Amino acid sequence: LKKSAAEGASASGLEQLKKLIEGLLGPKAVQAFEMLLEAKGEVTEEEVAEKLGGNKNATRKILYKLHELKLVSYKRVRNKDTGWYSYYWSASLGDVSLALLELKKAVLQKLEQKLASLPAEEGAYKCPKCGRSYSFGEALDSEFKCPRCEEELAYYDVAKAREVLEEYIGKLKRELEVERSAVLQSS
Ligand SMILES: [Zn+2]
Repeated sequence: LKKSAAEGASASGLEQLKKLIEGLLGPKAVQAFEMLLEAKGEVTEEEVAEKLGGNKNATRKILYKLHELKLVSYKRVRNKDTGWYSYYWSASLGDVSLALLELKKAVLQKLEQKLASLPAEEGAYKCPKCGRSYSFGEALDSEFKCPRCEEELAYYDVAKAREVLEEYIGKLKRELEVERSAVLQSS
């Protein structure tokens, strides 16, 4: 009998992995990942979509993102009669510590992008609908409404957001440094 991918992985590493997936891609991605981990063999895209609530496009997006992170793999099979392709997915979790390292790098990259996109001011106004930031002057000019969406702008403490992000980025970098050398030593 083929072992499922979950049986080969350590429990704490797996929990960490799921938390990172949730933070990066949301709870549905964790559900999809868990389903593939527990399956002994391949699962069709339709089966995953059904489990996730039925949206095929959203499911495919989630699966491709998990694939980009090298957590799942797929096989494409062409139906001879219809000419359509079917996708069979499975978890491709080799080494959990390596997977964790990859995921943390992805999280770090995302946080650094977020930090770089923060406005330069210490405080700014943000549109709750489209997420664009405006300086006090800009907000004043548009009477504290988003010029694009007409939404009421909300005050947003940029300095605080920057502080939280920088702290988390620093923590993640230190963790990555420790784990990278541990993985290098064990391989
Ligand atoms: Zn807006």
